[in-house]
Amino acid sequence: MELTVAKTAGFCFGVKRAISITEEALEKYDNVYSVGSIVHNKFVNNGLSEKGLVFVDGIDKVPVGSNVIIRAHGITAKELEDCQKRNLNVIDTTCPHVKRIHDIVKEHSDKGYFIIIIGDEQHPEVVGISGWTNGNFKVINDIQGIDSCNLDKVCVVSQTTMNVEKNELIVNEIKKNAKDCVVFDTICHATEERQKELKTLAKDADYVIVIGDKTSANSNRLYEIAKGICNSQFIENIDELDLNFLTESCKICVMAGASTPKCLIDEVVDKLEQKEV
Ligand code: SF4
Repeated sequence: MELTVAKTAGFCFGVKRAISITEEALEKYDNVYSVGSIVHNKFVNNGLSEKGLVFVDGIDKVPVGSNVIIRAHGITAKELEDCQKRNLNVIDTTCPHVKRIHDIVKEHSDKGYFIIIIGDEQHPEVVGISGWTNGNFKVINDIQGIDSCNLDKVCVVSQTTMNVEKNELIVNEIKKNAKDCVVFDTICHATEERQKELKTLAKDADYVIVIGDKTSANSNRLYEIAKGICNSQFIENIDELDLNFLTESCKICVMAGASTPKCLIDEVVDKLEQKEV
């Protein structure tokens, strides 16, 4: 068996930053709340909960005057206003790559551009981005979605974890049809690098194991890419690892999403290394 662990597997800059800011806040304050997940990984969120972080499902559930963490995926302008109205101490872990998109859509929406967001409509990052427009936006995830957009004067941004190739196809089609169009490349490098490395490694592998939370958009993208190239498995942790595919000469590649902690990757790698075929 030959085992390769992707160099880019595991925490990205934005996730490391969000966890570190949250841990500092938990050391400094007693009453720290988070509206939803800090990052899309249950193991990470459970660890923060054990250190005292309280998860609630709305800003209205955060006690007036206490501390609130803004997740790495960011929130809407209205939610930020609600925090201020409740006199909350806002501890913002929004990834700078996501904040940049908020600034772009706000500026262009104010200038009268129709905003097209390429991404998953339900994803918290996309919901947050749309909340910085003046309401003149559309979220699309395929070429067909372009038909329902106003293409007179359009500003295009993408969810940071979009599949690079799919994004390019959609952007090219918008450019062909729009009268006035500005496009911002907002897919983050962490995503691009992972997807690029995975494509190279998967081509040379018999089997790919992607480790990540099922709610993690970038981990799901990695799995989609991997299974398009060779047999693959998407697992959250070692308990889900199915070794039935193993053969003596199997070439395995291990990749992990940007919110997957190193300890979960190490457990899987150790198990594979110890496995006798
Ligand atoms: S994947 Fe990119 S945008 Fe998302 S948190 Fe990480 S660095 Fe930031």
